[in-house]
Amino acid sequence: MADYAMTIDGVAVPGTSSFDVLDPATNDVLGQAPECSREQLDEAMSAAANAFPVWSVDATGRGRALEAAADLLDAAVDELAPLLTGEQGKPLADARTELRGGAARLRYASTLRLEPEVLQDDEQAYAELVRRPYGTVAAIAPWNAPVIIAMAKVGPALAAGNTVVLKPSPYTPLTTLRVGELLQEVLPAGVLSVISGSSGELGQAMIEHRVPRMVDFTGSVRTGKAVAAAAAPDLKRVTLELGGNDPAIVLDDADPGEIAEQLFWGAFANCGQVCVAIKRLYVPRASYDGFVDALASVASAVKVGPGLEEGVTMGPLNNVPQLRHVEQLVDDALRHGAVAASGGGRMQGPGNFFAPTVLAGVADGTAIVDDEQFGPALPVIPYDSLDEALARANATHFGLGGSVWAKDVERASDVAGRLACGTAWVNSHRVLASHLPFTGHKWSGYGGNSGIEGFHEFTEGQVVWRKR
Ligand code: NAD
Repeated sequence: MADYAMTIDGVAVPGTSSFDVLDPATNDVLGQAPECSREQLDEAMSAAANAFPVWSVDATGRGRALEAAADLLDAAVDELAPLLTGEQGKPLADARTELRGGAARLRYASTLRLEPEVLQDDEQAYAELVRRPYGTVAAIAPWNAPVIIAMAKVGPALAAGNTVVLKPSPYTPLTTLRVGELLQEVLPAGVLSVISGSSGELGQAMIEHRVPRMVDFTGSVRTGKAVAAAAAPDLKRVTLELGGNDPAIVLDDADPGEIAEQLFWGAFANCGQVCVAIKRLYVPRASYDGFVDALASVASAVKVGPGLEEGVTMGPLNNVPQLRHVEQLVDDALRHGAVAASGGGRMQGPGNFFAPTVLAGVADGTAIVDDEQFGPALPVIPYDSLDEALARANATHFGLGGSVWAKDVERASDVAGRLACGTAWVNSHRVLASHLPFTGHKWSGYGGNSGIEGFHEFTEGQVVWRKR
């Protein structure tokens, strides 16, 4: 079995002990990740603090280093993709797409510059708003898209002049550890350290550590609240990219034959483990049966299996607790009168496979409608009036994304504007990109990593006022 190392102060280091990382397609041990001790955490933080003064003053050098980092990651896609599939579960083609996306995040970041903004220029004074990096950023990532999410943090944080200590999820640390080692070729020591641990305690210790001035977190609402609380005593700045329960609303001119496939993959890509997957689908009562049938027919054509197997389009859920969570929500919906138009439960075999499940007849107030399932099960809910559909779509603590689907794009855009969420799509869902700011409303978080707004999250403003 290959050895995996953390990167601390530019050097590959083993942990004081290690923990197992499982392959979700078999639940066999795929590799062992290093367990970061508190002393090693101190070393990573000190290295980040020491690297900051030099790293923060040369924007051109940072741009060049990030571009070289993007090139390195791009060149390593084929080598890393099987490892990412192995620990995360997604089909190999999707692992490649994720890794290329990670490189694209670094490449975009390499072009970012902190431009001063002139606030006043008259006989009294010349005043500018300049943006300063915080110092060290503690970055914490989830398991559903470990590499692209990590690179979406690392890129703009480093581009702004910060140094970063990054922690991947215990379920998917291996590829990120490799990427950490790889990038040392082009980054000065201490600028990016990657550490791993078997529980959330390491994340908690990173936040409580005296060095970082900012915490950049992606994960669940529950952990996000703990992160905000842990950051509060030291008033560390926090960005939280948290869970979603995205509604999609189909309007009455939409045709199931035309859009069922797109709706399906909006919900089921990455086995439904996407923060901005469609998690509730609202359909006019008149076309309800047509949509349920069309979605079930797409589901029946999906090839579920190990992500490394040729032709597989949906892998397993990433981990056993998540499998159990989805199973409980589906069982609960079925007990409360829902009907599985496709799937409905686990599949045979040792891995975390769950059949793609389209649920019809789901009642309001059912847990699978109100909570985030984060798995391959979609409740399809009929509605009678658009106002009612919007009210139900917005009646949630979540507010990450949402979409509206129709032939009449103008009308759909008006409806999309009434969704209470950070990103509202028309005739699409799940489109995220380096240049598009991405942030949640309500419990789905605040702040974000993408676009110029996301870049600026890694800085604090300073007004420089010069008397004339
Ligand atoms: P999680 O909250 O369980 O874990 C996320 C990370 O936090 C992991 O690295 C974990 O080890 C760490 N952690 C756990 N406890 C901690 C603590 N007390 N302090 C600090 N760190 C701690 O989330 P997950 O299960 O890995 O990911 C799934 C969730 O992430 C879903 O809710 C999904 O919607 C959300 N998500 C959101 C986005 C977004 O951009 N909004 C993107 C992807 C995933």
